[in-house]
Amino acid sequence: MAVPQNKVTKSKRNMRRAHDALVASNPAECSNCGELKRPHHVCSACGHYDAREVIAKVEDTDMDEDAA
Ligand SMILES: [Zn+2]
Repeated sequence: MAVPQNKVTKSKRNMRRAHDALVASNPAECSNCGELKRPHHVCSACGHYDAREVIAKVEDTDMDEDAA
């Protein structure tokens, strides 16, 4: 197994990790409902993408009949 030739000091390790921070996402407004959504993704609030509904939301499903 390969073994590191030299000890990596805390300073060098931390300098390497200085660029490892996660960057914030870049949310975009949904053109249908105005909710913030991920770019190039279907809106999770209304199910629209590119001004058309691609995921039907279950809002008015009536479960009264034959619910059992
Ligand atoms: Zn939306």
